[in-house]
Amino acid sequence: MKKIIQFAIIAVLAFTFTQDTLAQNQSVLREAERITNDKFKVSVNTPKGAKVYAVKKPNAQMLKAIDQGLTDLFAVSRKNNYRNRLNYSDYSIFIGKADRTKDSQNQYSPDIAVGAAQYAGTDYDQGGFIYAAGMVISNNPMSFLIAEHTKNYNRVADVVRYEGEHLVLYHNDRRKYNETADHSRGGGHPILQ
Ligand SMILES: [Zn+2]
Repeated sequence: MKKIIQFAIIAVLAFTFTQDTLAQNQSVLREAERITNDKFKVSVNTPKGAKVYAVKKPNAQMLKAIDQGLTDLFAVSRKNNYRNRLNYSDYSIFIGKADRTKDSQNQYSPDIAVGAAQYAGTDYDQGGFIYAAGMVISNNPMSFLIAEHTKNYNRVADVVRYEGEHLVLYHNDRRKYNETADHSRGGGHPILQ
């Protein structure tokens, strides 16, 4: 009898956990869709197990570049003695449609337009919005947004590493996270050396 009750409790816990996770993932998805006005209909994993949500099926180079960015992130995190959340499967990456593909210097630079918020009036401000290479959607569960690339995949790896820095810091060094999270007060990437 005792065994059965324990089993029942475990089953209920597992069910509750699944429901919570689903609800959290749903709210992150809604937030990503709100920011981008995109619909993330495709969901795939990278070869190393990071979760990817995209408007259309990402190509192999895109997925490989995401893994490379996370590999670089984990290496520099370990170097700084950060140990929490260094698994590929801990990360969800949203690939949105690029709102521009060239920057003001005419360089290939797929970026996403997001509301200016705290960047209003700064050099980043384009008139109520800014162009971002990447953006954290949620610290927990860990999710961030990047733009679709069709070349220069090294830039994807860099952006993944950079956005990931905020998430690693949030879960390993809250003081440094607070000091570096808002680039409108100065500072940029890489944060971790
Ligand atoms: Zn940043």
